[in-house]
Amino acid sequence: MERIWIAGPCAAESREQVFGTAKGLVEQAANAHIPLHYFRAGAWKVRSAPNCFSGEGEAALPWLQEVQQTFRIPVCVEVMNPNQVEICAKHGIKTIWIGARTSINPIDIQQLADSVRHSDFTVLVKNPMIPDLKLWQGNIERFLNADVCKVMAIHRGFPDSKENIYRNSPLWQIPIELKVSMPELPILCDPSHLCGNTRWIPPVAQLAMNYGFSGLMLECHQQPSIALSDPKQQLTPAEWAELISHLDLRSDTADLDLVKHRSLLENIDNQISELLFQRMTLVDEIADIKRKKHIAVVQPLQWQQVAKRYKKHTEDINYQEFIEHFLELLHQSSINRQK
Ligand code: PEP
Ligand code: MN
Repeated sequence: MERIWIAGPCAAESREQVFGTAKGLVEQAANAHIPLHYFRAGAWKVRSAPNCFSGEGEAALPWLQEVQQTFRIPVCVEVMNPNQVEICAKHGIKTIWIGARTSINPIDIQQLADSVRHSDFTVLVKNPMIPDLKLWQGNIERFLNADVCKVMAIHRGFPDSKENIYRNSPLWQIPIELKVSMPELPILCDPSHLCGNTRWIPPVAQLAMNYGFSGLMLECHQQPSIALSDPKQQLTPAEWAELISHLDLRSDTADLDLVKHRSLLENIDNQISELLFQRMTLVDEIADIKRKKHIAVVQPLQWQQVAKRYKKHTEDINYQEFIEHFLELLHQSSINRQK
């Protein structure tokens, strides 16, 4: 399977920034012998805060058209409504993506699908903001039914309220379920929006390759630190080429069933680590209370009660011995920590 690489800035900010970033990417790609299949840039940006940079709108389209003509790379732009589709078509842009905020509303999606019916548009459908596989799949089907040139999915993770190292939770089982039910559909990963920080992008990009994703959409900017949106998650063109050329792409024959089970396991392991972290934080707070109130760290009676409770919970399961051992270990490490 040849992977699909999409790269470009979060937003088109100026002719100079769009052209400079595209030129940087094309040169880096050539040096590293990597194909660049699509250049991306947002013209209309959906932002949470009202006074943020919200994109240059239609004014950005001629710059993108120039990039497309100069470098002969299709350019993709995010659209939220049929009017924006029309503006893209007017400027020769025939690849569009549907953002996570638009993907939430099937009525908007249907209007967008009707606006590209029987056309040569390629449509990339990002996962919706909520972790609802049926909604994502339904959106994709609306475009497939509209008989466009090509449809692809993009996994960008799901916001959650919990403290997380990533900007969005990957919930890998969702795109993997999608792959299982629509095996012909190319599914790309967008580690930029998933991670929110370039620091985590390389391991997440590799994980996506291990899971058999069809490619990556990555945000790149000629000078990320001065980007008008998403500065922390944009790579320089050189960093992009470095990342892509170091990916291990051997696992493209991944067994989907195995991949699916592994991703579920990984998800459980992540939750266990998260819970253990929360437990340790509570243990520290308890240690504080005990110190202030001059209470002994080890209280045998208290532990006996806890142990009894655990025993009751684990009576019916096969791994009782393991769980008892694990809980004892946990208790001992909490005591050591408090001491
Ligand atoms: C983007 O790709 O620029 C974007 C806004 O993405 P998302 O819809 O995934 O937040
Ligand atoms: Mn962005």
